[in-house]
Amino acid sequence: VSAGPRRELAGIAREARRLLETVRESRWSGVEALPETPAAAAPRRGAAPRPGAARPRHPAPPEAPEQAAAARVPEPIPPGLDTLEAVAAAVASCTKCPLHATRTKTVPGEGSPTARLMFVGEAPGADEDEQGRPFVGRAGQLLTDMIVKGMGLAREEVFIANVLKCRPPGNRDPLPNEVAACLPYLRAQLAIVRPEVLCALGRHAAHALLDTKAPIGRLRGRFLQYEGIPLMPTFHPSYLLRTPGDKKIAWEDLKLVLARLGLPVPGARGAGGGA
Ligand code: SF4
Repeated sequence: VSAGPRRELAGIAREARRLLETVRESRWSGVEALPETPAAAAPRRGAAPRPGAARPRHPAPPEAPEQAAAARVPEPIPPGLDTLEAVAAAVASCTKCPLHATRTKTVPGEGSPTARLMFVGEAPGADEDEQGRPFVGRAGQLLTDMIVKGMGLAREEVFIANVLKCRPPGNRDPLPNEVAACLPYLRAQLAIVRPEVLCALGRHAAHALLDTKAPIGRLRGRFLQYEGIPLMPTFHPSYLLRTPGDKKIAWEDLKLVLARLGLPVPGARGAGGGA
């Protein structure tokens, strides 16, 4: 075989390998790509399957039963958690994981019960633990700027929550048992608020929701989904404080979120310049 066809064959083989990897990752990690645009493709409010509905989260790939067996099965939403107040009350008295012993206040989340957009971070930090409110420290101020100055929304019209409702000591990474114990509260909040779009802030939130270990840099920039809800992973505001050069990349993600919601990008100014 001469050099030309050999190069061509090698290129085809490379592309086939790349496609296979993509398929494997998307099927087995819970990551499911959605169409990026247009907004018309987004599920209408109320049309998205509710978290907890009888719907397999990780359909078993028939050719890989061992992978299906390893897939995470979400814990059911505890009965009675059908209002945001009920979720907050349950969280306030929760002792399901060891974090209850070291928290000052629980941080259930806050915002509009009819929010079209929900932000999900990983866990409360020191300021949040002190005040019992999500994203109120320096990273919270940046998130507020991204929402208000960048997206042209009021903080009160979105919903802001974390995967964990109690602070891990020293702001360490969430542990898998803590995520598993706490996730039903977030799923209850999703079932109540029924946002049209989710935005996962940072790799820990994205990993908890998408059941993947892919780097946030690879996950961000396109819509995936969590239980039928379009989900945009993007950088955590804490990371953006440390790496301000990446604010413009996060802003690209937020512009996709606005488009998905059918909302205009306000002015020419974005969080990348003003936050
Ligand atoms: S982090 Fe979640 S599961 Fe753990 S004690 Fe707090 S509310 Fe309960």
